[in-house]
Amino acid sequence: VVPLAPSLVLSSERMNRILEISAANRYARVQPGVTNQQLQDALRPLGFFWPPDPTSAAVCTIGGNLAYNSAGPRAVKYGTPRENTLALRAVIGTGALLATGTRTTKGVVGYDLTRLLIGSEGTLAVISEAVLRLTPLPERIVTLRACYDSLAAATAAVAAVMAQPVVPCALEFMDEVAVGLIRRDPGVSLPQRTRALLMIEVDGPGYALAQMADAVTGAASVAGVLQVEHADDPLAAQRLWQARKALSPALRHIAPKKINEDVVVPVARIPELIEALQRLSRETGITIVNFGHAGNGNIHVNLLFDPEDRRQAERADYCLQTLFDLVLQMDGSLSGEHGVGLAKQPFVGRELGPLATRLMWDIKRQFDPANILNPGKALPDPADSA
Ligand SMILES: Cc1cc2nc3c(=O)[nH]c(=O)nc-3n(C[C@H](O)[C@H](O)[C@H](O)COP(=O)(O)OP(=O)(O)OC[C@H]3O[C@@H](n4cnc5c(N)ncnc54)[C@H](O)[C@@H]3O)c2cc1C
Repeated sequence: VVPLAPSLVLSSERMNRILEISAANRYARVQPGVTNQQLQDALRPLGFFWPPDPTSAAVCTIGGNLAYNSAGPRAVKYGTPRENTLALRAVIGTGALLATGTRTTKGVVGYDLTRLLIGSEGTLAVISEAVLRLTPLPERIVTLRACYDSLAAATAAVAAVMAQPVVPCALEFMDEVAVGLIRRDPGVSLPQRTRALLMIEVDGPGYALAQMADAVTGAASVAGVLQVEHADDPLAAQRLWQARKALSPALRHIAPKKINEDVVVPVARIPELIEALQRLSRETGITIVNFGHAGNGNIHVNLLFDPEDRRQAERADYCLQTLFDLVLQMDGSLSGEHGVGLAKQPFVGRELGPLATRLMWDIKRQFDPANILNPGKALPDPADSA
């Protein structure tokens, strides 16, 4: 989190207690400074998990997860914090304590302030306690690795997998450049002609899992598939996931000041987006690497360039503007999970439009009349609503 001077930074580091875990009610009540990993570790022995799984789990907090609606690969099946939170306690900008939601999985009284606070990037209230909805751990998980001879084949497979009834619990996509990077890991061996790759996980009860995995394998076997392999060996599966999770840091090694966007488009439009990005890369000479949570249409678009080189910086900026235009034309959104913060703030007015922007500022004033909570972040400039 980047404070704007002059600011006061509030740390939730010591609000790190898990207050209650109720298996019967399927919820955990936690303070905001508990890390995602601490919570998962406490839930596992009881046979439960909290579905949001950002890669930063070891260090990121529940407060940050809720404020950014952060998630990871599992969101395709289990949703984001918005789908997995029952109630909140939060301090609004006036200092008053607000309680939202209920401890039940049903409840329709009043507006849904819980969902409003989740993803509001700390601009409406400081979350001081959360009641999180728990899910039973799946009995078993199968990891599939599908290799394709073209990008078009891999993206067609994503659409085919999502169009059939078995929902995978992860459906991750990597383009050719990303595949090249993971090939550098000596533990990862892929068919020679692999140009794009999907990592798919299917979870469920032991008695049905083989059938479920077969259904997904069938759907993923579109024209252009080179191989769909079951990673039966947990070590091999773990290695592949490690390689996937190491992609972003590896790219930062190549281009330390790369831009990493996390746009979202409807799943069936992923091929259109990726093809447009390939054209853009050829046209501008900027290397663009794409990977991410394809099952949600959430693609991490990485622009590799050197910002010290003025010509490269200008072309990267052009790519960014074009990317956002493309995504909005495709009924998508500028951010799937990283949020708006400062960097994307100048662009979000394009997505929201003047009426939504004005209503959001009206809401912000109700919660935070003196504009002291994360001022200058997330919301477009009020002038954009004129
Ligand atoms: C290596 C790495 C991998 C990542 N992988 C993912 C990923 O897979 N998926 C993903 O979605 N994100 C990912 N992220 C981004 C980041 O980890 C998440 O957004 C995470 O949820 C942030 O949590 P935090 O505790 O670090 O929050 P911070 O960065 O401290 O804060 C984030 C925002 O939340 C606000 N906030 C924090 N606590 C509260 C509170 N109690 N009440 C109100 N507002 C609050 C802050 O003001 C700030 O605006 C990754 C980041 C890194 C560095």
